[in-house]
Amino acid sequence: MLALEELITNETDSDLKRIAGKIIAEERISAEEGLALYERAGLPFLGMLANHVRERIHGDTTYFNRNFHIEPTNVCVYACKFCSYSRLYAHRDEGWELSMENMLDIVKQYDGKPVTEVHIVGGVHPKMNLEFFAELMRKIKAHRPDLHIKGFTAVELDYMFRKAKLSMEEGLRYLNEAGLDSLPGGGAEIFHPEVREQIAADKIDGDGWLKMHETAHRLGMQTNATMLYGHIESYYHRIDHMEKLRQLQDRTNGFNTFIPLKFRNKDNEMSHVPESSVSEDMKTYAIARLYLDNFPHMKAYWPMLGRQNAQLTLAFGVNDIDGTIDDSTKIYSMAGSEEQSPSMSTEQLVTLIKQVKRRPVERDTLYKELTVF
Ligand code: SF4
Repeated sequence: MLALEELITNETDSDLKRIAGKIIAEERISAEEGLALYERAGLPFLGMLANHVRERIHGDTTYFNRNFHIEPTNVCVYACKFCSYSRLYAHRDEGWELSMENMLDIVKQYDGKPVTEVHIVGGVHPKMNLEFFAELMRKIKAHRPDLHIKGFTAVELDYMFRKAKLSMEEGLRYLNEAGLDSLPGGGAEIFHPEVREQIAADKIDGDGWLKMHETAHRLGMQTNATMLYGHIESYYHRIDHMEKLRQLQDRTNGFNTFIPLKFRNKDNEMSHVPESSVSEDMKTYAIARLYLDNFPHMKAYWPMLGRQNAQLTLAFGVNDIDGTIDDSTKIYSMAGSEEQSPSMSTEQLVTLIKQVKRRPVERDTLYKELTVF
C-alpha cells in the first residue's frame, strides 16, 4: 500500500491522480476515465492499482480448475477474418467433424480422473443442430452426472436456435434441461459495429451476443465474457465493449469472469496486422480489472499467452489462469499461440502460481473452492 501511495503522490498528471483516488475509494470510473487510463497511464501505475483491487477482492488467491475441452468441429458457416481455425463447409475435408461417439469417447477418457468441467466450443457446422447437441448433453450427463458442462458461444447458440425456429429463451431452456450448465464467453470479439462489421460481419452482432447472455442469466445460468483485442480496434472500442458488459452485469450479476483474448495473426486474413506487445497485454488486463468493478474474476488463458506471461498477469489484476486443459484444444495453437500442445498437470499449475508468491486454489466452474494448495 505504501508503494501505491508513493506512486500516486509522485504522479504529475492530476487527472490520473484523481482517477486513482476514486479507485482506492472504491468508486466507479467513467468511460472517459477508462480511456484516460489507456491513453495516459504508465504500466507501473496501472499494475499497482489493478493489483490493489485484485488483492482487495481476492488477496493472493489464484484460481484454476481441472478441465478438458471438446471441439466438435472446425467447419463453420461464418468467415471471421481473424479466425485461423475454421474451414468453410465446401472445404470440410480439410477440417474435422466429431461424431457423437467420438465425443463420448473423449469424455470416457477422463473416467476416474478428477476433472470437474468439460468446455465445449467449436465452429458453426450447418448440420450439427440443436437436437444433436441436446442429445450430446444428455449422454454426457448420463455417463458422468457430476461433470459441469460449459458449452457453446452465443454465436453457435444463435445459429442453432434460429435453425430450430426457437427464441433464445426457448433454446437455452431446452439445452439447460438437457444438461448444459453454463456458457463460456467466446464470440464477443469487439461489440462496436465499426469494428465488428470489418472482422466478423456475418455472425450475431454485439447486441445479440449481449441479449443471449442476458437471457441465460435470467434463466439462472452463469456465463463468462471475452474481448478479442489487439487488432484494428481502438482504445475507445475496448472501453465501449467493457462498458456494455458492465451495464449488463449491473442488471443481472450473471457473469463470473472476464477473459481478454489476444489477437494472434498466424494463418488468417488479418496476418498483416501486427500482434500486441506484452506491455499492451498487461495494460489491457489491468484496465479490465479497474473498469469492470462488478466482475468478480479476471482470467488469463495461459495457452494463449504462454506460461511466463500468464504468471505476469497475476501482478496486473488477474486472479484465475483457467485449467489443466490436457492438450484438448486447437483454437489457439492453430492461431500461433505460445503453447502448441497445451496441457498442465495440477502440480505444474500449482508450481506456476506459487513461483510468483500467490496462493493456488482449485475451483469448480462456478468458483466454489475445492482445494487450497
Ligand atoms: S471465429 Fe468462430 S464463428 Fe468465426 S469463423 Fe471462426 S469458428 Fe466460425
